[in-house]
Amino acid sequence: MKPAIYFDELEDDVLQCLLCPNKCIIKPGQTGICKARKNIKGMLYSLNYGELTSIAMDPIEKKPLYHYHPGSEILSVGSWGCNLHCDFCQNWEISKRRPGIINRVIPDQLIEIVKSRGSFGLAFTYNEPTVYFEFILDTARNAIRGGIEIVLVTNGYIEKEPLGLLVQSVNAMNIDLKGWNPELYKKLGGEKTYILKTIEKALEAGVHVELTTLIIPEENDSPEDMKEEVKWIASLSTDIPLHITRYYPAYKYDKPPSPPEKLKQLWEIAREQLNYVYLGNILTTKECNTYCPSCGALLIERSGYNTKIENLDEEGRCSKCGKEIPVIL
Ligand code: SF4
Repeated sequence: MKPAIYFDELEDDVLQCLLCPNKCIIKPGQTGICKARKNIKGMLYSLNYGELTSIAMDPIEKKPLYHYHPGSEILSVGSWGCNLHCDFCQNWEISKRRPGIINRVIPDQLIEIVKSRGSFGLAFTYNEPTVYFEFILDTARNAIRGGIEIVLVTNGYIEKEPLGLLVQSVNAMNIDLKGWNPELYKKLGGEKTYILKTIEKALEAGVHVELTTLIIPEENDSPEDMKEEVKWIASLSTDIPLHITRYYPAYKYDKPPSPPEKLKQLWEIAREQLNYVYLGNILTTKECNTYCPSCGALLIERSGYNTKIENLDEEGRCSKCGKEIPVIL
């Protein structure tokens, strides 16, 4: 356990957690919505500090990050807990509760594991990483000294102040933008405006940002919503990569997987306004590749998690027409 950084003391040892917009009011002996923060005798603790439930070398494309060291592998870790309630959660075994098997590490040990595996970086992923905020900050400080890059795969549901610290400590983020309809976020126990602010703040801080929208039939698959979503993304930059990914039944959802034709329709809508749109969780198609938005040359070919760089020079320019491509090699 580690004392939490962001909270307020109310009265009679009651605390208010200020890490995420849920702003849980927590009585002594109780935990917040994420289950990962507990009031113990008037002090708020992070229960999942250094508690790892998963550790693996993953292709960076699995995060998904397609414009960040393409073709490399990254040591990826997850803990447990989440501050939203997605009934279609693909990792519900670790997001909804603390699983039985846990490996405990301190930041130095984790950095040593990253080095011993020969990984260029460390990805906090699988469950929602911001709910073990203190562990990420402590690890990131050590990582920076060792030249290790930090990646977050996050729902972006975090308050402004902690986010300000976080974006100073990470190199790349994949942020879930679960859909454009604010009602969807309400259903999940969140508010969309916070996610939009997280995306803006991460970009302002110079973090490499890619976005993911998991398409769930009848929840967020309307063409109108996708048009509005990409209009907003394009207003920030038309170069932000957007991953439109296929849903499969999980946790409490048993609706059939999103139809490939629907995904392609949404991909086409998104491509009208954005330069780099990808389909994910789907068999190999041309919509998984990167093409030069200027001359159309194939730049990066993807087949599953196999990645082949075709027409990019060392500076990240299209070798056919010289256009600068926003990719970190
Ligand atoms: S981080 Fe957890 S305890 Fe804190 S406000 Fe969010 S859900 Fe509540």
